[in-house]
Order: sequence, then C-alpha cells, then structure tokens
Amino acid sequence: MTTHADGKPVAVVGAGCAGATAAWHLARAGVPTQLFDLQEIPGERAACGGMMLNSLRRRMEMPDDLVDGEVDRLRIIQGRDRHRLDFRRPIFVNFDRSRFDAHVVALAEAAGCVRLAGCRVREWDPERSTLTWTGEGSRHESAFSTVIFADGPRSVARNHGLGLSDRTPMGSAFYRELEIEEDRANETDFYLDLPADDPGYIWVFPKRGFTQVGVGRLNDVTKRPLREMVDDFIERDPRYRGRKVLVNRGGAIPVGLARRVARPGGMVIGDAAGLVNPITGGGLLYAIASAEMAALAVVRGFGRGRRGPESAARMYSGRLKRSVHWWWLRSLAVPFNHFCRQLRKGRNPHFLVLFMLYAKVLPHLTPAARTITDRMPATSDEGS
Ligand SMILES: Cc1cc2nc3c(=O)[nH]c(=O)nc-3n(C[C@H](O)[C@H](O)[C@H](O)COP(=O)(O)OP(=O)(O)OC[C@H]3O[C@@H](n4cnc5c(N)ncnc54)[C@H](O)[C@@H]3O)c2cc1C
Repeated sequence: MTTHADGKPVAVVGAGCAGATAAWHLARAGVPTQLFDLQEIPGERAACGGMMLNSLRRRMEMPDDLVDGEVDRLRIIQGRDRHRLDFRRPIFVNFDRSRFDAHVVALAEAAGCVRLAGCRVREWDPERSTLTWTGEGSRHESAFSTVIFADGPRSVARNHGLGLSDRTPMGSAFYRELEIEEDRANETDFYLDLPADDPGYIWVFPKRGFTQVGVGRLNDVTKRPLREMVDDFIERDPRYRGRKVLVNRGGAIPVGLARRVARPGGMVIGDAAGLVNPITGGGLLYAIASAEMAALAVVRGFGRGRRGPESAARMYSGRLKRSVHWWWLRSLAVPFNHFCRQLRKGRNPHFLVLFMLYAKVLPHLTPAARTITDRMPATSDEGS
C-alpha cells in the first residue's frame, strides 16, 4: 500500500474516460483517491462517437457485452469518390461511450476510489493544495496531496497556468442516435461532403440497436449550425430519413496541445491538456494514455526518497512530452495548421486529401502505437 508522506488523498476532477482511468490506476496502486464529477451518474452526459483503437479493449478490461462491433472497414466518401479501407484485423472497437465511462468508474470504485457524484469543483488553490467544490447545496473545501484535472478543455486548472489558453482553437461535434439496427457494427462511414470553407466530416457509426450519425467540424469557423448539417444528411439518406431520434449530444473539441501540463500539486490530462487528434477529433487513446502516465507519476513521485508533488509533476510532464502520443499529435499539427492557414486565405485545401493521407498512414502506425501502449507498465505494479 502506497502511503503519502502528508497523509492526504489525491483528487481527480472529472470522471470521464481520462479521470476515471487515472482514479482506477491510483486506487489499484493503493493510493487514497477521490473522484469528483458534476454528473450524478457516470457517463450520463458523455458525448462521443464511441470509436477507439481495438488494442485498448483488453487494457480497459472491457467485457464483450460492452462492445458493439470490431471495426475492420472504413468507408470514406466524397461525392462520387468512394474509398474503402479493409484491414486484415479489426483496428477499432465500436461501443457506447456512456456505458464505457460507467464501466471504468465501476473499476475505480471496486479498486477503492471514493466517488463524489454531483459535485462541481469551483476553485483550486495550488499554494494551499486545496480544492473548493459545491455539492448537495453547500460549499466544501479540502486539502489534497495532488490534483489531477480531467475536467475537459475548460478545466479549472486554466486559472493557474495549466492546460489550454484562451487562444487554443476549438472544434465542435454533434450527433443524433437513430433507432435503426444496421447489422454492420464492423464498419464506419466518413462523408467528406461538407462545404470547402467549413470543413469537417459526417460520420455514421452503426451500433447494436441504433446508428449514430454525427458531424465534426474541425476549426473555429461557425458557418451553419451542426444540427442543421446532421439533419440535412439524415434527410438525404433514405436509410435514416424519418427514423426515431433516441439521443442528441454534442460538445467542444480542443485542437491544440497545452503548453504546460503539470506544476507541483497539479496535472492536466485528456482534453484538459488538449490531447486530441486535430484531424479526426479523436481523444480517447490520449485520454487513457495520459491518465496512466499521471497515475504512475503520482505513485512514483510520492515514493521513498522523492519530493512528492514536485517529483510527480516533473515525471508526468517529462514522460508525456517524450511519449509517442505527444510526438504524434505534434506531427499531425503540421499538416493540420497548414490546412487551416490555406482555409483562412480563402483557398480550398481539400480536406479529403488530408483525411485520406491520415487514414492510409494509420494502419501502418497502429502496430507501433500498440507496442508502445502495451509496453507501458501498469500502475498497479508500482508501490503496492
Ligand atoms: C461529439 C463528440 C464525439 C467524439 N467522438 C470520439 C470518438 O469516437 N473517438 C475518440 O477517440 N474521441 C472522440 N471524441 C473526443 C473524446 O470524447 C474526448 O477526447 C474524451 O472524451 C476526453 O476525455 P476526458 O476524460 O478528458 O474528458 P470528458 O470525457 O469530457 O470528461 C470530463 C468530465 O469532467 C466533468 N467535469 C467538467 N468540469 C467539472 C467540474 N468543474 N467539476 C467536476 N466535474 C467536472 C464532466 O462532467 C465530465 O464527466 C469525441 C468528442 C465529441 C465532442
């Protein structure tokens, strides 16, 4: 059992996929952990396509009934251009994000983490190591040895120089879930027919019992409301027209990395650190990987002979910024920023080219990504 020198627990703010993963690994390593979320029910309001690398499935201990499909086919469509990418083995896993978040929170609680549901964290005082939050109609304050912020792009940590800045570009996405069983949960469709000056893509992810149709817009430009774009697409396709809508959800997507991800007593992970693929808007892999790195840094940083919060912050920042994930996201920023510059100059930078380049490179990169994520030691091996 890891015991922190100051006897205070670790706080994790946000029980989305990043926060729940960090809390799970900390609790497994014996670190007293408190997990805050403003939602009462885990995953209740999670907005996500529910598509991530298949290699993460075992790592996240996903039971089979949580998986809607193993995806081995991508279809990329623009007008008359139709590209089909078939993979020799399923490269992605297709699932319901709300149930996934609930699963990871359950793992964390089973490992001993204390969950504070319906609690909104309001302030962090890094000098006194305290958090202030509201819940059940009153205001509370407690001290923590370290706080891991997993509260998304508008993190409370931003007031103290961690995470994203006001200048970080934001994308956005919105989807509807339609009552239609397509029996092809191994496939995903991407339609790149959005106007050239308002780029992004429409996705169709068939799930078990329903089909998700969404739109992701990858820059700040606000042209047409996303809802309208989804509805136009649904109206045009006879498979989806007139189907009952089960769920409507949307959210912001940061498309720029945080400059500073840690300081003594605090760290940002997942979307709070801007760890999102700027081309696809995908962030689950990076949320999970950064959560594991933060948990490991806390376990090691508070080990014998280490300087607690200072060591943990330094280890997390160093480890994340040396990781393949950071390198990969920075590399993607190069073509993406070029693309955005062209767009600002009023040129048509052809989103299809960027997307295809990415989709064709992806299968070659995935084994590398898998090797690296598999090699990373589990936090539970540490300090117990
Ligand atoms: C519509 C949409 C579709 C997407 N589809 C995909 C996809 O298919 N695949 C993929 O890889 N990525 C996808 N992404 C991106 C992915 O969802 C995010 O990268 C991922 O959810 C980041 O996880 P997180 O835990 O950092 O943040 P979140 O999942 O946003 O979790 C943040 C949590 O913090 C809580 N919180 C916020 N503020 C406070 C506070 N002050 N106090 C207490 N709690 C707080 C919130 O309630 C929430 O539970 C999508 C994003 C959107 C918007």
